[in-house]
Amino acid sequence: MNAPETALANTLAAAQATPAATAPARPMPHVLNTYGRLPIALSHGQGCWVWDTQGKRYLDGLGGIAVNTLGHNHPQLVPALQHQLTQLIHCSNYYEIPLQEQLAKKLCEISGLAGAFFCNSGLEANEAALKIARKYGHDKGIEKPEVIVYEKAFHGRSIATLSATGNPKVQAGFGPLVEGFVRVPLNDLAAVEAVAQNNPNVVAVFLETIQGEGGVNPARWEYLQGLRRLCDAQGWLLMLDEVQCGIGRTGKWFAHQWAGIQPDVMPLAKGLGSGVPIGAVVCGPRALNVLGPGNHGTTFGGNPLAMRAGVETLRICEEEGLLANAATVGLLLREGLQRELGHLSGVKEIRGAGLMIGIELDRPCGVLLGRAAEAGLLLSVTADKVIRIVPPLILTAEEAAQIVVILAPLVQAFLAETA
Ligand SMILES: *Cc1c(COP(=O)(O)O)cnc(C)c1O
Repeated sequence: MNAPETALANTLAAAQATPAATAPARPMPHVLNTYGRLPIALSHGQGCWVWDTQGKRYLDGLGGIAVNTLGHNHPQLVPALQHQLTQLIHCSNYYEIPLQEQLAKKLCEISGLAGAFFCNSGLEANEAALKIARKYGHDKGIEKPEVIVYEKAFHGRSIATLSATGNPKVQAGFGPLVEGFVRVPLNDLAAVEAVAQNNPNVVAVFLETIQGEGGVNPARWEYLQGLRRLCDAQGWLLMLDEVQCGIGRTGKWFAHQWAGIQPDVMPLAKGLGSGVPIGAVVCGPRALNVLGPGNHGTTFGGNPLAMRAGVETLRICEEEGLLANAATVGLLLREGLQRELGHLSGVKEIRGAGLMIGIELDRPCGVLLGRAAEAGLLLSVTADKVIRIVPPLILTAEEAAQIVVILAPLVQAFLAETA
């Protein structure tokens, strides 16, 4: 569980501990109890704003967790999707799907990579990446291929991706974990070099360019450049999980582009469809032909509706200059937060890139999720102590200023009362 889930789960656990007669019925009683939820039901949105069923308005600093790239009810995306609904929602990968080729070509253009596989979510993209890594190893005669993964990493909640994840809370209760992972700390090249020295079974390095759930922890540019060199020297695949930090969020299409390097394998999902479920694995030359017919597949993956959402998202990002917007408005937002909060002793660091911002406090702050919502702001708290802001890329300077105006007093009050 990430931090807001944990905080809410604690609240719910406390509620459940009260005598049955007085305990309120759990909302949504027919849905499995896997999320701690706020008692808010959102009904519709416009741009960076959403409304709940009571008519209360919220500024969306969360974007459905870095998903709603174009905000809500985008005037170009919605008609395009409506048109697609009238044409074809789904067929099957038994047939050619021209929109797949169109989206794959565009992803190759903006990444400099060579080909894409489509699926439906982040964990599926990472599963495909891990299968590519293992097959790449087997093709080289390595019978027990291993993948280097990271402390605090998050790659999803399937058995393989939770095994790759570096968070004991995500793994607890789901053993036995998948084997074949070696874990290292982030931004410590010597640790990876040490693995290279004594482990001939390694086939790939797998990390988030900027860790999201782990607390908005960027891999340093020199570190990424060092990994690229090491992977080339060792014949390893460099696999960069850009499920959260990709698709323009940091001000470039992909966060690793700030370091001037290219990965061999890049899983994508969240922001790629502006809310329509989609995942992709984009591959460079070294990984391009590892999988062949029969090695991998998915029923829904690459369906025309999702592909159209991807094509339109990338087109609109380009047309509306949303990468530049993410960079400039993100900087304004970070500066505003730094100005209002940076000097407080309970604030350890304000970090991130573009519109992926983390405010690390010195204490658990999951309670701020609910308080921010009460004050009309959606955001998340991850890794217990990190307030995370990942709004739509259409956020304006005025909206960024409003985020600061709402959030700063909440954090100040919280720090004062828990001092
Ligand atoms: C959200 C996330 C995932 C998992 O994506 P799902 O669509 O929830 O399966 C994987 N990797 C990263 C970096 C993520 O942020």
